[in-house]
Amino acid sequence: MYDLIVLGGGPAGYHAAAKAGAAGLHTVLIEKRHLGGVCLNEGCIPSKTLLHSAKLFSSAKNSQPFGVTVSGAAFDLPTVMARKQKLIELQRKGIAGALKKSGVTVETGEGIILPKQNDAFHVKVGDRIVPGKRLLICTGSEAIRPPIRGSENPMVLTNREILSVDRIPNRLAVIGGGAIGLELAVFFAEIGSSVTVIELLPSIGGVLDGDIASILLRELEKIGIAFQLESKVTAIGDGTVAFEHGGTGRTVDADRVLLSVGRRPLTKGIGLEAIGIATVNGRIVTDGQGRTGIPDVWAAGDVNGVSMLAHTAYREADACVNDMFGRPDRVPYEAIPAVIYTHPEVAVVGMTLVDAEKAGIPARSHKLPLSVNGRYLAETEGGRGLCKVVVDRRDGTVVGVHMIGGSCSEMIFGAAAMIHERLKIDDIEKFVFPHPTVSEIIKDTMGFIDLSDNK
Ligand SMILES: Cc1cc2nc3c(=O)[nH]c(=O)nc-3n(C[C@H](O)[C@H](O)[C@H](O)COP(=O)(O)OP(=O)(O)OC[C@H]3O[C@@H](n4cnc5c(N)ncnc54)[C@H](O)[C@@H]3O)c2cc1C
Repeated sequence: MYDLIVLGGGPAGYHAAAKAGAAGLHTVLIEKRHLGGVCLNEGCIPSKTLLHSAKLFSSAKNSQPFGVTVSGAAFDLPTVMARKQKLIELQRKGIAGALKKSGVTVETGEGIILPKQNDAFHVKVGDRIVPGKRLLICTGSEAIRPPIRGSENPMVLTNREILSVDRIPNRLAVIGGGAIGLELAVFFAEIGSSVTVIELLPSIGGVLDGDIASILLRELEKIGIAFQLESKVTAIGDGTVAFEHGGTGRTVDADRVLLSVGRRPLTKGIGLEAIGIATVNGRIVTDGQGRTGIPDVWAAGDVNGVSMLAHTAYREADACVNDMFGRPDRVPYEAIPAVIYTHPEVAVVGMTLVDAEKAGIPARSHKLPLSVNGRYLAETEGGRGLCKVVVDRRDGTVVGVHMIGGSCSEMIFGAAAMIHERLKIDDIEKFVFPHPTVSEIIKDTMGFIDLSDNK
C-alpha cells in the first residue's frame, strides 16, 4: 500500500512525486510514455533546443552588420535532431535518478483508476493493481484536433511529430498563431521553409498586450513568415490548405501542416468517474491547493486547464504536496510569467492595462522602446523591442510587465517577483540593476510613471 499514487510523469507528476517521496511519503509514479511528459519529450525542451540551432544558423547568415562574415553556414537537420534527442534522454535519466533518490517507485504503463475499495484507491496498470491512500492526477493535456476536412492527411502533424521531422518542409502551413505555432513557425522559417500562419483572431500570440502583439507580428514578418489573420481553415487537401477570410475562400500551398490550435486536458479514459470526479469543459476543477473536492484526491498541471504551462505545473505540484502535509499554500496565479520563445522573444507577467480596467483597478502604464537601452543596441541590429509596465495608479504597485526583445525570457522572473511581493515603483527605484543589461529597461520604464496627479 502506497501513501501516494501519482498518475502521470510530466512536470507536475514527477516534481510532486520527488517532493512527496523526499518528504517521507511512500510514493509510486505511473507513466505510460516517457518520464518528463510533454514538456521534456515533445514540448518545451525539444522546441527550445531546435530554436537555438535555428538562431545560431540565422545569426551566422545575418552577422555582417556586426562586422562578422560567415561563409558556408549550413543547417544539418539530422545532427540537430540527434542533439535534441540526446538532451531529452539525458534529462529523462536525470528525472529517473531524482525519483530514485527520493525513494519513488516508477510503474510504466497506462494507469486507469478503479473504484475505491477498503478505503484505498486502486489504479490498474496493465495486469497489476496499484493500491494507495492518496491520489494525485497529473495526466496533462493533448493537442486539440479540430474536425477540419482532410485533417487525417499524413502531411498534417501535431507538435509530437513535427519536432522529429526528417526533412525541412518546403512550404509549411501553421494552423493557429498561439505560442506553440509561432515558435515552430520561427524555427522552420529560419531554416528555410516558406511558412504561413493561419489564425482565427485578428492578432497573434494569444492574449497579449496590443503593442507587443503588433511588434511581434511585424518582427516575424521580417523573418519571412506570412500571416493570414481572421481566417478560418475549412479543409486540408493534398498540397493545399483552404481557408475563409472575410467571407471569401482562399488557399495556401503546403507540403506539411502543423495543427497548433490549442491543447485540452487529458481527462478521458482514465477512470475519473470511478471515484466520482466530475469534469467541467473537460478539465478537473481544483481549489488553490489542487484539491478536487473528493477527499485525498488532488490534481495538478495541464489537467486542470488553468494555465497550461510547465512552471505552473511545478508550482501546483508543490501546493498539492504541501496540502498533503497540512501546510497552507497558494499558487500565485497573478504572478505567473508567460514566454513565447520566438526570435524576438516575448515575456509577460501580470495584467495588461485592459485586464486591469476589467478588474476595476485604476491603472496607468508606460512603455519604452528597447532602442534606448545600450546593451540592446550593442547586440541588436534592425530589431524592435518594447517594455511596458502597468501599475495601480493609487499607490504605484506593479501589476503587469510586458516585454518583447532581448533575452526577456531570462528577465521576466524579476518582474514576476515584483508582482508576487506586491512591490511599488518606489521600492524598485531603490534596486540596483547590473549595467549594461537589457533588464535596466524595466526600472527605466517605471521611472517615467508619474503618480503625482493621483486620485
Ligand atoms: C510544443 C510545445 C511547447 C511548449 N513549450 C512550453 C514552454 O516553453 N514553457 C512552458 O512552460 N510550457 C510549454 N509547453 C507546455 C508544457 O509542455 C505543459 O504545460 C507541461 O508539460 C504540463 O505538464 P503536466 O505534468 O501537467 O502534463 P504533461 O507534460 O502532459 O504530462 C502528463 C504525463 O501523463 C502521462 N499520462 C497521461 N495519462 C496517463 C495515464 N492514464 N497513465 C499513465 N500516464 C499517463 C502522459 O504520458 C504524460 O507523460 C509546451 C507545450 C508544447 C506542446
